[in-house]
Amino acid sequence: MQKDTDIIGFTEITPVADIAAARHGERAKCLQRLIRLDLPVPRAVALGFSEVARLAQGARLDMRPLLDLFGPAPLVSVRPSSQDPEWGGPAAVLNVGMNAARHACLAQTHGQAVADAFYLGFVQAYATHVAGLDPGFAEPGAGLAEMLAAYEEETEAPFPQDPAVQLSETLRAMARDWTRTSARLLRSARGAPEDAGLGLVVQDMALGLGEGESGAGEVQFADSETGQRRISGRYRVQARAGFAGEAALEIGPESAFATRFPEVFATLRRAGETCRLNLREEMRIEFIIADGKLAILDALRIGRSARAAVRIAVMLADEGIISRETALARIEPRALSELLHSQVDRTHPRDVIARGIAASPGAATGRLVFGSAAAQASAARGEPCILVRRETTPEDIRGMHAAAAVLTERGGMTSHAAVIARGLGLPCIVGISDMRLNTRDGALILADGRVLHEGDTLTVDGTTGEAIAGEVRMLEAALDDAFQALMGWAEAACDIGIRANADTPDDARTARRFGAEGIGLCRTEHMFFESDRLTVMREMIFARGAVERAQVLERLLPMQRNDFTKLFEIMQGLPVCIRLFDPPLHEFLPTSREGEREMAEALGKPLSEIVRRVQALSEFNPMLGMRGVRLGIAVPEIYDMQARAIFEAAVDAAHAGAPVVPEIMIPLVSAMREVELVRARVDALADIVRAERGVDFAYRLGVMVETPRAALRAGDIARQAAFLSFGTNDLTQMTYGLSRDDAGRFMGSYVQQGVFPEDPFHTLDVEGVGELLKIGAERGRAARPDITLSICGEHGGNADSIAFCRNAGFDYVSCSPFRVPVARLAAAQLALARRR
Ligand code: PEP
Ligand code: MG
Repeated sequence: MQKDTDIIGFTEITPVADIAAARHGERAKCLQRLIRLDLPVPRAVALGFSEVARLAQGARLDMRPLLDLFGPAPLVSVRPSSQDPEWGGPAAVLNVGMNAARHACLAQTHGQAVADAFYLGFVQAYATHVAGLDPGFAEPGAGLAEMLAAYEEETEAPFPQDPAVQLSETLRAMARDWTRTSARLLRSARGAPEDAGLGLVVQDMALGLGEGESGAGEVQFADSETGQRRISGRYRVQARAGFAGEAALEIGPESAFATRFPEVFATLRRAGETCRLNLREEMRIEFIIADGKLAILDALRIGRSARAAVRIAVMLADEGIISRETALARIEPRALSELLHSQVDRTHPRDVIARGIAASPGAATGRLVFGSAAAQASAARGEPCILVRRETTPEDIRGMHAAAAVLTERGGMTSHAAVIARGLGLPCIVGISDMRLNTRDGALILADGRVLHEGDTLTVDGTTGEAIAGEVRMLEAALDDAFQALMGWAEAACDIGIRANADTPDDARTARRFGAEGIGLCRTEHMFFESDRLTVMREMIFARGAVERAQVLERLLPMQRNDFTKLFEIMQGLPVCIRLFDPPLHEFLPTSREGEREMAEALGKPLSEIVRRVQALSEFNPMLGMRGVRLGIAVPEIYDMQARAIFEAAVDAAHAGAPVVPEIMIPLVSAMREVELVRARVDALADIVRAERGVDFAYRLGVMVETPRAALRAGDIARQAAFLSFGTNDLTQMTYGLSRDDAGRFMGSYVQQGVFPEDPFHTLDVEGVGELLKIGAERGRAARPDITLSICGEHGGNADSIAFCRNAGFDYVSCSPFRVPVARLAAAQLALARRR
């Protein structure tokens, strides 16, 4: 049992006091810094984490010695002070010490109205934040007497008059607030550790009342949205009492505030600059003018958007106030995606109609369409559209190219729509369970019964996973000079390669713009979905025998060669890793009778033949069927054509003065013999092209490790491969036995119940899939010490997964072009942390 006589431990904040952010919180530490800078800060006292924890556990502590510091009639504020202000905390309580005696004095000096307003404001705050009453405990518009009566009725005790009791109860209520489950959940979502402590700061209320000018305000010296230097703020005359004084004054260089209080304004500017130089941050200063005298109550890091964070960090580094390393460390890598895409301005109201998995960041508004043809028609009319599908298939790629954003009812982080959208930089939400798509009637039925039809306007926020009715205010992408500067510094600090997954010339250009060091994965099948090629591709599938197939492939060859030539040209000698054809053939065939009919017409074949072939190619589980290298071995002419196209394009690139050593990658390998067979044919083709063109060229052949067996047998496989690239999308799918296209259905509930700590298609499962990666890397390296190791699944753009790859000694990671900056910054931060 705690004794009543226990004295509370506290530390007065003075320049020499032993105050640490790790024990007293950031606010207490910051106040000490302000005091050390000789700024006019009213007397303040810090309570450490352990003291506050004791209060939360019910310790009864004597407040007298603390209160005595603030004079015979103390009036103080109590504010939270956690280690990181972003973690939040209980609301501040002001004017603790206000009671009937104080009220009477105030009434004499300042009149009844002022005194009533002060007391009333405090009773209201105390009742709700300390006594735990409902904010509506008193009638609306209640006067002081009614408010006090309502308090007494609700709590069955009169309003406490002793400042010591008021303070003790306030501190305890705030301490307890921190231990509530809701507060814990909120701060852990913001990155606070389980044992995060709360400090409290008790500070003299420099009451904004007196004969002379009195009031309170706040001012900041950089813009929260853009980060540009700009003075802004508000000042309210005698605002603390909560009664109507003059309207608030805006603060700025030419403002009425600056004219009316030139000296205070100049002091505030100096204080801002002092904070900037010494606290090495852009701060928002809370101040009070009490009887004409300025007091600075607090200074907080200004709130900031991602783009403002980048600009502020870069400006401070450019001015030598912080180092470039510190600037890099201050930016959350994930936040960069806010700069790369348009974003919903979340400070404005919005009507969220459904939520799903945020599969590809950014936001766009457009009219609803339910099919690819409609999306293309809309694009042709110049109208942005949102493509809504149950799930997408390769047939939808053209529709996705035409759409401003994509929404699918089903799917997970690596389902088709998600992967393609990230590649295209298109906002995308998948796995929306609270809406139903009625494709027959072209309608989207929402959980609240509302129905949206084709042509209705919708906004997709792929950053948060929110579908929003109608239009909302947007913030444009900001790839400005500050962003470029930060990327340059990150590149210099980085010690792991960052490549991009890029399939088309557009992707490649984006990849270069974002500083990718090469292409780590070119999914060649994406080149076959252009409408002219799709027909040829289908003819190839319907070819009768090898001769006819070879004839059709002859027609695909120049198109494919042209694709590679363009990629090599854009990448200017940087490495380009081309994956040979991967998907099962049925993905190129129509999925409806209507489509089959159209195809029969286009190919000039009877419908029955088409139907038969579609049936013959259909598989129960195509992801585990005839795809990847299996198809390459069963129908070798496809890989032959691709290898020839790559080599011929490489010869052309050398002629054009930008020689390239192409990398050819074999997908879905599980046995060494598969690699041997493909290798033999690719080598033979290289010799043929060398002979035909009369030039020598080099290339590298490697293997995608996407099956658990390939990871386990990486030793054998490495003897046949110059590089191993871990395709962690398929490897995750196969390690868990969990379909990447169907996982979205229950992933949310699995993560919620803690079955999986996170979606393994999003953050690498270090324990399981990670172990396979380590085994594969070790065995591969043991067999071939100079082997190049990389990862090219979607995990390549995730900070935690990059940390894993770095530790495992991988040479590079490869991710969607739009994730290159995020990966680059994450990798730079890891390298800098290691150096420190
Ligand atoms: C993978 O499986 O990780 C991969 C990169 O290939 P895809 O996503 O094309 O299957
Ligand atoms: Mg794969």
